[in-house]
Amino acid sequence: MTADRRRIIEMLFLEGDHTCAYCVASGDCELQALGYRLGMIAPTDPYLWPRTTIDATHPDIYLDRSRCILCSRCIEASKQEDGKSVFGFDGRGIVMRLNVDAEGGLGATDMAAIDKAASVCPVACIVIKRDSYRVPNGRRRFDSSPIGSDIEAKRPQASPEATFPNTPYVQTTPRHLLLDRLFRCHMSLLDIDERLLEFMDLADLDRSPFDDKKEFDRMVDVGFIEGGCSNESNVYELREFRKHCRVLVAVGACAVNGGVPAMRNVYTCASAWRGCSSARVPSKVAA
Ligand code: SF4
Ligand code: SF4
Repeated sequence: MTADRRRIIEMLFLEGDHTCAYCVASGDCELQALGYRLGMIAPTDPYLWPRTTIDATHPDIYLDRSRCILCSRCIEASKQEDGKSVFGFDGRGIVMRLNVDAEGGLGATDMAAIDKAASVCPVACIVIKRDSYRVPNGRRRFDSSPIGSDIEAKRPQASPEATFPNTPYVQTTPRHLLLDRLFRCHMSLLDIDERLLEFMDLADLDRSPFDDKKEFDRMVDVGFIEGGCSNESNVYELREFRKHCRVLVAVGACAVNGGVPAMRNVYTCASAWRGCSSARVPSKVAA
């Protein structure tokens, strides 16, 4: 049974474009949490890499259809709870896509950020703008307890082990050393090729962008930080990182002198949002 459930979750990953380490919902996503819970390591079949669109026409909400799992929760919530009919499906089978009830995109509907439909999405397809990372990674919904544990707690006879045999929640077995968090420049570390294997004989890897481990639970000898601080979650993680590394090394232009993220400092938030989110500019990404 567990293998079958894991297979279904794998297929949902294959059908979309899910890069959890970079996702605003990481730690708060039901699909990701089920992947961990069911012991999914990596899908065994090829990814389909669907061609989907982002709809950023609404001032407060955007849709990233590459992450939609077609669960229809938003459709039902919009009809039943909000008394609207904002969402529906287009097409059938493998080409079925979420659509909205207006040619101008979500911004042309009567959807509001306070609608029930805006909060029921189990993944990061319906996303409230300016709200990402309000809860820092490490403190999000599924960071400390696996999905389903609240239900299991009400059924003492059904322990997690009984429900999910042979699938412990612990995602990694950390030891110590080498930590690299804020993306991108770790790729240049991989350019040392097979010498990385020699290095691994000398060091134990505790955490990296590849394992998506959320919490700092022990001291390490050396941490490598890359990227800049762009939100409160980044600041929280960097402070936690500093506390848990004996030596902390800044790697790359962003960590050392601000790099690309710091370029935003010369713009106001309002002008950045106009550039990124208005209906006029991103015609290529609007549905
Ligand atoms: S929506 Fe969930 S599964 Fe998909 S990338 Fe984001 S966190 Fe991962
Ligand atoms: S609730 Fe989210 S995942 Fe489900 S159909 Fe709507 S947008 Fe897609």
